[in-house]
Amino acid sequence: LGASLYLRGLTADQFQDLTNKLWSSQHGNCFICGQPMDLTVHAGHLDIDHVEPLAVGGKDDPLNFALTHDSCNRSKQAADLRVARVLARFSRIRAAASLDDGRSANLGDVLKDSGGSKYPLVVQDAVEEARFAFSQLSDESVRTVPIYKDTLSEMRYLFAELPIEYLHHDDRINPRPIGSNLGGLVEEFHRKLPQLHVALAWYSKSDESGPKIKVFDGQHKAAAQVLLGVRRLPVRVFIDADPDALLTANTHAGTTLRQVAFDKSIQRHLGNTLFWDRVQRFRKDRGLAEDDLSFSERDLMRHFKGEFRAMKRYILDAARDSITNDPENRLRPFIDLGGRKTERPLSYSTVERTFYSFFIYQDVLDTALDFEYESGLNPRDLERGQIVRLMNLIADKLLISEFDPSSGAYRVENRVQSGDDDITDAHLRAYRLMREEILYAWLGYIKQIVSWSFAAIGKPFKAERMFQYQFPEPLWSNFENYLVSLKKMPVWVNRDLATTVFGGKQNYAFWQQVFESGKTPQGQQVLAGPLDLMKMVQE
Ligand SMILES: [Zn+2]
Repeated sequence: LGASLYLRGLTADQFQDLTNKLWSSQHGNCFICGQPMDLTVHAGHLDIDHVEPLAVGGKDDPLNFALTHDSCNRSKQAADLRVARVLARFSRIRAAASLDDGRSANLGDVLKDSGGSKYPLVVQDAVEEARFAFSQLSDESVRTVPIYKDTLSEMRYLFAELPIEYLHHDDRINPRPIGSNLGGLVEEFHRKLPQLHVALAWYSKSDESGPKIKVFDGQHKAAAQVLLGVRRLPVRVFIDADPDALLTANTHAGTTLRQVAFDKSIQRHLGNTLFWDRVQRFRKDRGLAEDDLSFSERDLMRHFKGEFRAMKRYILDAARDSITNDPENRLRPFIDLGGRKTERPLSYSTVERTFYSFFIYQDVLDTALDFEYESGLNPRDLERGQIVRLMNLIADKLLISEFDPSSGAYRVENRVQSGDDDITDAHLRAYRLMREEILYAWLGYIKQIVSWSFAAIGKPFKAERMFQYQFPEPLWSNFENYLVSLKKMPVWVNRDLATTVFGGKQNYAFWQQVFESGKTPQGQQVLAGPLDLMKMVQE
């Protein structure tokens, strides 16, 4: 009953009467989740609450009451029940997307859930104006809008308010999922504050399934409004546009220009897309077949010399992204691609600063992209495959059924300090081994182990591209032995060290010193002695 004087003043009969009335006016469904409420089965587990909170001027009056499951009311994501209802719906959309194929929801999912993204839009564009009708919605009136030309790029565009049935999400130019700021935007629009920027979209007349209006910017604002029931959205539409120019402009906005904060993993993914785009353009410029891969990374750099620096980044992004998104990668579920690092032990940045900076060759190759591909010895392919295999070994030995997702990665050492019994030894060990400064130190020795192995069989190799040479099979047993003996070290489950050694964030050199001497730079004995790498790989 909370703060409601009105509800507290009701007799039991009057209260039941109000419950019944709300139940039938809501057609028997919970105001927040929309699922049925059973007046007998759920008796004692239903809440009556203010739709508009009293704190913001809602009335303590039957017209401002709604009936909900009490669990829905307890876990609501906003004080205003109308906003809470919208966010509950988005949570369902998000859960469905993740159940579907393990991805995060984007504008496309929101549009489809609202009956949008159904039709292409045929636009008749003359020099100065464009005409179209919403025939599939039985609205045959012809709209005429002016066509503008972007002065510098000379790209043509129009402004229009389009029904959501004609709007589609472009997940190639904009591969970002909808983030956690959606709730704030829903509240903003719910308070009747206007949308400040229009969404950006484009279409191509050569689109095989008909010209689709594809939204590539402004998806959060669009999604928030669609969830609030908006059926038409204002958009700036590039006419018969070159998607590559838009992709490049949007990528630059989120990377080099820093106009929008893209997560690193998203930047890499866009870079990968741009890499394949340039490959495509290179073939066209040279008159090569559509599947030709007989040219090298160096050839691409030379060909696109106007952007050779960016080209080099796309090449490396492609190498990184193909590892991160390899379907066989079992380490991936332990990586927080959003970079916030509260549930998962590894942030994407940590993976870049360790695995990728240690093991990916950072320069361009002179061999053809398809060099030795059939034999399985293609350098980039070997590199990707062997890094993924190493990541899988690490996931299998140190993380899977060790790291407990329900315990998470948030303030683990603090919780250990305060005697939190829910943190198991296995979880604590997995968490500590994945801390960036610790991982950096022990993962670095992998390079040492590879060098020994090649030296033992007399194989010449270049250290900076060691993952591009096929590893002999016994080397994988060496890695495994190394991980197993690393895992056995008592330091990872020593809870007394939560305040000292593991208390603050140490630098890389701190842990290198520990592994080399058994002691911290301050002289505290932490390990039995220096790491004996040779012994570790043979055990
Ligand atoms: Zn409910």
